[in-house]
Amino acid sequence: MPALLFTATEVQDVTPHMRRITFTGEPVAQYIATGQFPNIKILLPKADGSFDVPELDDPACGADTLVRTRPDLHERVRTYTVRRYDAQQQTLDIDFVLHGDEGIAGRWAAAAVAGSTLGAVGGGGRPIGTGERYLIAGDETGLPGVGNILENLPADAVGTAYIEVDGPAEQQDLQAPAGVEIVWLSRDGAAGGTTTLLADAVAAHPLAPGTFAWVSAEGSQVITIRKDLRARGVDRKAMLAIGYWRRGLTENGYAKKANHDRDLKEFDDHDHDHDHGVRGLAARLRRRG
Ligand SMILES: Cc1cc2nc3c(=O)[nH]c(=O)nc-3n(C[C@H](O)[C@H](O)[C@H](O)COP(=O)(O)OP(=O)(O)OC[C@H]3O[C@@H](n4cnc5c(N)ncnc54)[C@H](O)[C@@H]3O)c2cc1C
Repeated sequence: MPALLFTATEVQDVTPHMRRITFTGEPVAQYIATGQFPNIKILLPKADGSFDVPELDDPACGADTLVRTRPDLHERVRTYTVRRYDAQQQTLDIDFVLHGDEGIAGRWAAAAVAGSTLGAVGGGGRPIGTGERYLIAGDETGLPGVGNILENLPADAVGTAYIEVDGPAEQQDLQAPAGVEIVWLSRDGAAGGTTTLLADAVAAHPLAPGTFAWVSAEGSQVITIRKDLRARGVDRKAMLAIGYWRRGLTENGYAKKANHDRDLKEFDDHDHDHDHGVRGLAARLRRRG
C-alpha cells in the first residue's frame, strides 16, 4: 500500500503569518475516510523533493517502531491540525504558522504553491470534551484548533476563547456561538514563546463550575496554565492542555524531552487512541479494504 501523498491545490494567506493550504484528491479522500482527527501527521519531503516512504503496511514502519527503525523518516514528520475538511469535495485544509525558515514544515509552507506535495502518515488526538462552559486558550499554533472548535460547538455553548497572536494583523474572522466571547491578546511583535500573555489571561479568568478547559500553545505557557487550573480545582478530566511547540526545540526534540508537556492523566478516562502514526493509518486503510 503506498503512502498517501497530498497535493496542494490552493495556497491562501489568511493573515500575514498564517497560510492556509488546501489539499485535494483521492489520497485526501482516503485519509478523511480513516477518521484520524483532529490532528494529522505530515511527512515533509527531503531536500530533493522525494519522500522515500516505506509501504504503509510494512510492519517495520509501525508508529512505535518508526523512531527506532527509520529515524531519517521520523525527523521529517510534524503534527498539524486539520483546520477543515470536506468529504464530498475531497478537500482538507491545514493552517501553517509562517515562523521563519528554521523549521522544515514552516519552510515548506512558506514555499508552497499549487502542486506542492507532502505525505500524510497518521493522525489522531482528542476532540474537546463537553462542559457547561468553555475556557479555550491558544497561541497561533492552537488557533487552527480554536477555529475548528468554535465552528463546531453547539449554538448555545457559552465561554471564552483567549487567542494570543503577534499583533492585530494576525486576528482572523472566526465563527463562534453567540455566547462565546473571543479575546485577542497581542504580543506587539514580541517573539512567540517569550511572553506570559496567555497564562496571565487565563489566571485572571474567573472559573465557573462545570468549565471544560482546552489549551494549546507554546509549552512553557501550557505548563503554567495547567498548574493554575489544577490549583483552582479543575479536574484533569475537564481539561485538555497540550504544548504544541517548544521554543528552541524541533518538534521531535520537544517530544523526546517532554512528550509535548502532556499530562497523560488527562487522557486516563478517555479511550486510548494514542497510535497516531503510520501503523494506525495503515490499519485503518486496511479495515476499509
Ligand atoms: C497536536 C498539534 C497540533 C498542531 N497544529 C498546528 C497547526 O495547525 N498549525 C501550526 O502552524 N502548528 C501546529 N502545531 C505546531 C507545530 O507542530 C510546531 O510548530 C512544529 O514545531 C513546526 O515544525 P517546523 O518544522 O516548522 O519547526 P521545527 O523543526 O519543529 O522547529 C524548528 C525551530 O522553530 C521553532 N518553532 C516551531 N514552531 C514555531 C512557531 N509556531 N513559532 C515560532 N517558532 C517556532 C522551534 O522552537 C525550533 O526552534 C501543532 C502541534 C501539535 C502537537
